[in-house]
Amino acid sequence: MYNPLSWRNIPTAKTLFVMIFMAGIGLIVSVVALLYLSLHLISSKTNEIDEHRSALSVQGAIQTSANRVWSLVIDNAVWDDAVREVYPPVLNTEWLYNTWGAGFKINNLYDGTFVLDEHFNVLWGSFKSKAFHEQNLDFFGNGLKALIRDNADALKSEKNIYAGITRTRQGVAFVGIGLIRPMIGRLQVHNDVRRYLVITRHLNPQILSDLGNTFQIEDLNFTEQHTSEASVPLKSSAGELLGYLNWQPRLPGAQAASAASNDITQIVLLAAGLILLFILLSSVGLYKLARGENQARRVARTDWLSHLPNRRALIEELERVSLRGDIDVKSVVFIDLDGFKDVNDIYGHDVGDDLIIMMARALRDRVPEGGMLARMGGDEFAMMIGGDHSQARASAFAGNVLDFLGAPLRLGERTIHISASIGIASGTLIECTSSELFRRADIAMYHSKITGKGRVTQYDAELNSVREQQLAIENEIRSGMERDEFEVWYQPIIDARSQKMTSVEALLRWPRRPAGELGPDAFISIAETSGLIYGLGQFVLRRACQDLEPFGDLKLSVNISPAQFRDPEFEEKVARVIEMTRFPANRLQLEVTETYVLENPERARAAISNLKALGTAVALDDFGTGYSSIGYLRRFNFDTIKIDKSLAGLVDNDEQAAALVSGTVRIASALGMAVVAEGVENEKQMKLLRLAGCDQLQGFWFSQPMPIEAIIELRKVRYV
Ligand code: C2E
Ligand code: CA
Ligand code: CA
Repeated sequence: MYNPLSWRNIPTAKTLFVMIFMAGIGLIVSVVALLYLSLHLISSKTNEIDEHRSALSVQGAIQTSANRVWSLVIDNAVWDDAVREVYPPVLNTEWLYNTWGAGFKINNLYDGTFVLDEHFNVLWGSFKSKAFHEQNLDFFGNGLKALIRDNADALKSEKNIYAGITRTRQGVAFVGIGLIRPMIGRLQVHNDVRRYLVITRHLNPQILSDLGNTFQIEDLNFTEQHTSEASVPLKSSAGELLGYLNWQPRLPGAQAASAASNDITQIVLLAAGLILLFILLSSVGLYKLARGENQARRVARTDWLSHLPNRRALIEELERVSLRGDIDVKSVVFIDLDGFKDVNDIYGHDVGDDLIIMMARALRDRVPEGGMLARMGGDEFAMMIGGDHSQARASAFAGNVLDFLGAPLRLGERTIHISASIGIASGTLIECTSSELFRRADIAMYHSKITGKGRVTQYDAELNSVREQQLAIENEIRSGMERDEFEVWYQPIIDARSQKMTSVEALLRWPRRPAGELGPDAFISIAETSGLIYGLGQFVLRRACQDLEPFGDLKLSVNISPAQFRDPEFEEKVARVIEMTRFPANRLQLEVTETYVLENPERARAAISNLKALGTAVALDDFGTGYSSIGYLRRFNFDTIKIDKSLAGLVDNDEQAAALVSGTVRIASALGMAVVAEGVENEKQMKLLRLAGCDQLQGFWFSQPMPIEAIIELRKVRYV
């Protein structure tokens, strides 16, 4: 059995979950990567900045060292005592030694002091407290030579003091040179006599370490070769490369990074935790959403009353099957309850609902294995089945349903007779689409409906053309009513005793139909199944009452179709027409057929008694075509029984028919009902029917149906 609950599992939830999960993992990875990447970036940037700063510091340190030598030269060269001791006529070497030569031991601010003459020859010198005996400047290297060469004039003119870097024979040294001169006033000497003070200070580990401490540079050292990234070149004042000052980079970024790494790890863990929590929460949300969606989808595909799948579900299922490329034969069984509307009208909608529920249950119990049953809406059900022998199984199912409906249904206190019109269509979804299959089943069902209900019709191509014709006629009726194509004609009803017309039957005609006139037998049933009969019936009743109103000696009989009779407002509508046309109710008779009366005995009785209360008579039309006996019909209190022409027309050559007619007439008379014989076509029939005791006669023998004007002319004719 088809189960609507298992249509689909929750596929969306799973895929969405996987997507969220992947997205979450991706998020975690990117957060971690981002954190570490930026940490790395920051730390290397920090290192870079620090390196730059260190390089500046080292350069600053070099400059500072040179400046110190420069200061030393100023302090010692611009000194009146020194002027006195070094300029001619004296060169007090003792003073020089005590003052400058020995100072090296005490303060370690320099390691060499030298006095040079105007030709820059060494007059006196002390290097590391030892006497210096060289006369030329070779010891001092190119740095000092460059200082002298570049600044010779300035040096001479007392203007300035110069300090720089040079490579002496003892190593790399800071060197300063300045003119020895008095503190105040100009130097009072002969000619070009000059005395210069030169001070050197050689680089050594101690100096470097002191500088490192001062400038916060770690492991500051000097190498001749380039050995480390963290270094600056050291150049002499002459521009020659002396070597490199190197240091140990502090890598503050890396330190910070490693210091922060614990925190970062915690942050990463926290973020990962939060993201996981987010994944979890949104998965739960998604799951609920998907489940809700699924539920909504299920609700949208389930009929609320019968809990069967609804039309949409069935069509979707068929479409799914056809998409799968299934080539099996599929059969669709269409079931439409006959007279369900009456149950609703008479007993109320609750009973109607109960009936639907009961039907749904009964149908479900009879659905063959693998079939899908759905409620298509209202009182329509459909069953679809595929696979081997689906056609035979569909037929068997339809037969079972009719069998089930053969017996009256018990609904609570009530016993209800109901039948169903069933249509079956079969085919592969290759030869026709699923909606075409439905349409065909519907056409077959419709055929069952108009050919007497309570039956099964198998679809075939001919039905289709019939149905198409019917649809065309439906449309023609609709437009015909708008364009006033219909007329009402009348056929005389003759009193058997007086042989005079006492009444007429109104018969619908369609003379102005564009495609040619069509008899009522060909279109009344179509009007009935399409609901057009309501308008058409009202038209006939109104027109007939208007036409006959002036002729007080004539009664009027109007045909009422089952659908009209079923209308709960029918009696009211009749009353309104009577009132509007001022037609006396007691001149009106309504003709109904037994089909409706048998289907809805209670409603029929109520309607008949309501009509009688208006003063209107009710006739049972076409008696003899159905199955009911006159005894059964007595309870409905018909005023008149009309014996159908198929029975009355046989009296002249069928004894059995004649006997049946006279028996009917006797019982009807005994019950106080008048009898009309229809279809009287010849004199013999007329005489026999009169003999049989019929009260009134109707047929071509007297007159064809005619327009009202012609009928009026015939009024005075006496038929013999
Ligand atoms: P019906 O109610 O039995 O109407 C009598 C039918 O028998 C009429 O056919 C009439 O022309 C025909 N007839 C009369 N005398 C003879 C005769 O001697 N021999 C033969 N063979 N036929 C005779 P019509 O007018 O074609 O109507 C056919 C049916 O259509 C009617 O049968 C009635 O059931 C339905 N009909 C006609 N007009 C209306 C209407 O206004 N409303 C409804 N609901 N049904 C109508
Ligand atoms: Ca009739
Ligand atoms: Ca009739």
